[in-house]
Amino acid sequence: MKNNKQGWLENIRHLTSPHFDKRPDPQDVSLLVIHYISLPPEQFGGNFVDDFFLGKLNPTAHPYFKEIYQVRVSTHFFIDRNGRITQYVSLQDRAWHAGVSCFQGRNKCNDYSIGIELEGSNEQPFTEQQYAKLTQLTQQIMALYPQITTDRIVGHSDIAPERKIDPGRYFEWDNYLKSLG
Ligand SMILES: [Zn+2]
Repeated sequence: MKNNKQGWLENIRHLTSPHFDKRPDPQDVSLLVIHYISLPPEQFGGNFVDDFFLGKLNPTAHPYFKEIYQVRVSTHFFIDRNGRITQYVSLQDRAWHAGVSCFQGRNKCNDYSIGIELEGSNEQPFTEQQYAKLTQLTQQIMALYPQITTDRIVGHSDIAPERKIDPGRYFEWDNYLKSLG
């Protein structure tokens, strides 16, 4: 995986989300935020996560979707249960994954962060394939953005503790951070 000029990594799946805007300071990409998502909740597979980040979720496909189909959010990357990586937003642009958030006294983490969503929940461990691809992807991101050091890799729950619990109790922080070398 290499970076091209537009901030899209090579050799992964690309789907362009309309849910992004410009970073206030494109030179400041200095935080990595790990999340989980599954749609419907606790169900894996299918295209509903893609549809959600693309603003195309069908509100009639599941009762829960009526509540969320108009929510405009995105992420830079999504890693499904099989380890397939999809990128929805250029790294040069601001994806909308963190919401109201604060890291070390600084608000609006979307401004200066990259978001990675893992297909998962707080009820099941993540897969080996997901960790393997997450490690590769993180190493590549850290090479491209040296301001992102291991102490600037956080969970959504770290930057929005009153609202969010992801990536949850099953995420293996120690192994993940060690795997980055
Ligand atoms: Zn999250």
